[in-house]
Amino acid sequence: MREFADAILVFSLAFNPALGQSVAQPVSASEQKIEQAFLAVPDARLAGEHLKTLTAAPHIAASKEDYATAEYVAGKFKAAGLETSIVPYKVWLNFPNEVKITATDGSGKVLMTGPTPEHVTGDAYQDDPRIVTAFNSSSPSCDLTAEVVYANYGTPEDFKKLADLHVNINGKIVLVRYGHNFRGVKVYLAQLGGAAGVIIYSDPADDGFAKGNVYPNGPYRPATGVQRGSVQYIFKYPGDATTPGIASDPDMPESKRTPPENAVSQPTIPATPISWQDAEPILKNLTGPGVPKDWQGGLPFEYHTGPGGVKVHLLLKQDYAYRTIWDVIGTVDGTIYPDEWVVAGNHRDAWVYGAVDPSSGTAAMLEAVHGIGELLKSGWRPKRRIVFGSWDAEEEGLIGSTEWAEAHARHLEHAVAYFNTDVAVSGPDFSASSVPTLKQFVRDVAHEVPSAKGATVYDQWKSSQATESKGHVNNGFSEKHINARVTDDVDVGDLGSGSDYTPFFQHLGVPSTDIGSGGPYGVYHSAFDDFSWYIKNADPDFTLLQQQARVFGLEVVRMADIGVLPYDYKTYASEIEIYLQTAKKKAVEAGMKDLKFNAAMAATERFSIAAAGIQKRGQVPAADIPGFNQALLNAEHALLSTNGLPGRPWYRHTIYAPGEFTGYAAVVIPGVNEAIDAKDTTRAVEQMGLLAEALNRAATALEGAK
Ligand SMILES: [Zn+2]
Repeated sequence: MREFADAILVFSLAFNPALGQSVAQPVSASEQKIEQAFLAVPDARLAGEHLKTLTAAPHIAASKEDYATAEYVAGKFKAAGLETSIVPYKVWLNFPNEVKITATDGSGKVLMTGPTPEHVTGDAYQDDPRIVTAFNSSSPSCDLTAEVVYANYGTPEDFKKLADLHVNINGKIVLVRYGHNFRGVKVYLAQLGGAAGVIIYSDPADDGFAKGNVYPNGPYRPATGVQRGSVQYIFKYPGDATTPGIASDPDMPESKRTPPENAVSQPTIPATPISWQDAEPILKNLTGPGVPKDWQGGLPFEYHTGPGGVKVHLLLKQDYAYRTIWDVIGTVDGTIYPDEWVVAGNHRDAWVYGAVDPSSGTAAMLEAVHGIGELLKSGWRPKRRIVFGSWDAEEEGLIGSTEWAEAHARHLEHAVAYFNTDVAVSGPDFSASSVPTLKQFVRDVAHEVPSAKGATVYDQWKSSQATESKGHVNNGFSEKHINARVTDDVDVGDLGSGSDYTPFFQHLGVPSTDIGSGGPYGVYHSAFDDFSWYIKNADPDFTLLQQQARVFGLEVVRMADIGVLPYDYKTYASEIEIYLQTAKKKAVEAGMKDLKFNAAMAATERFSIAAAGIQKRGQVPAADIPGFNQALLNAEHALLSTNGLPGRPWYRHTIYAPGEFTGYAAVVIPGVNEAIDAKDTTRAVEQMGLLAEALNRAATALEGAK
């Protein structure tokens, strides 16, 4: 109540009767002063220095260069006045000892031996011997020879198309191109289809010369550029494969771990990535049926599905071991609500230099921390506890964040938000994904931050969304998935997976957001995502880093000090209503007449009425703010189910999950939707019941707020 005594409430209102309204949350005048003081601090030049230091050497998780970046981040946290520690975990990880690919034609003539090292003319960073050979983490070792089948992007529809064409993938090496889904899903579907192995390449149509100039003359992927990446089945569970649900403390004995060979998050067939230069001779010599029109990539010849014409010998020697990784944690105690945590994080490990992914996020986070440090020096203390996390081994499967979140599951029951950033700056177009409760909060914050391009981040966001850029690359994670549009305000996407919010949100029910600023970015997970690519193509004067630091830091400062939590359950209920309507249509089309939606619809209606009620009451601060806020938080936790999703109990959120067959993109009301997709009425009925129960629990939580 106290913090509202001198309040002048500032509202900005956008209202559209057709689509519903977005109402800005009030911020008191004294809070505004603190926020302005914060916004004045993040510095473009310093952010550029952080980026240059963090990207000076390749720093894959568990390497000594990775540890050096941990020490750098810890030093900056300490300098800002954060209570700082480097937290180790011991996790199951592979490095490539040897990768060899040989393609031969029908007569045994060698068409290609690879992989070709990544190389362009005139990049200062590319010859460093510490650059890891392109590989897929979580792939098993292999020594196998098989015929090749081309499967486009490796989506469920693509594999179905092959079956329609009577092309059998059983025992074959499946060649797929990157894009449109998570690479682990490509491997998972190939494994389910009985394939012997998978080769994933980057087609020039998707992020190379067909898009525009290639690096170093432009931002797109050059001929030898390869996308490394994890093929862990993170849609089963992320984190250390040997410790689902528990933290991989350094002294955890092996007897307490799941043996790696029994870990369902690990593929049983091998996979490795290559460049289009290495894929070209394979594709060119494949026989078999011509491909459907939209399977044709950017190389200048007609693609065929195979099999026939090419055999590939794939030799992968993976070096698996329990290795040490390092999160860096920095905290500031809260004065009024010390048990309520505001957590903000970004990963620090990179496949190679990782200038965009993730060092732009780390540089922005360090300037946000700098801003909070200056507030602390001026005597400010946050009302809630602030926790910054610099996560390790995100690239191998969200490992550092997952292990830390599992270790602190109890405390995180009182966390009021998790703010994520990862690929923070690859260009000027701001975008965000969020739980519906915080979508308006993100817009409100964007309204407060000046844009590097003039006006505010919100204005720039709105105009860039109106002129959807064709230059962006579809990495599967970079599109913002909108499953329900309930406002005509700027779109905020839904959280799927592919970054560190997953353990907080989908496992523990902490309301989360993810922000970034995008552009034409064709060098994802290659050696060329380096400092020289960054200053040539993304952000030469680092003003976008400064902008990201301000948005990210303001999320934290505002959430740490606000009285009544700015959760918008009205929007949540409206979106769920649309999810149910959409699922109902799909169920009718699938002929599932026995699947009744009434109970879930009624529960949503009740949830919606409770949300409207609490939103009204929230405008008149309650006598017991912590109690009121706990009720708000309980509603999000109520949406978790005890047993989790069928076949993947680690994922407990009943409204959002990464799709088992999309990987990055969010599947909404996943229990119900995936059962309908599988045409499994029994499962769908059961999942519908669990969903209705969760929605009723959430309604009860909101109704109980005093
Ligand atoms: Zn990343």
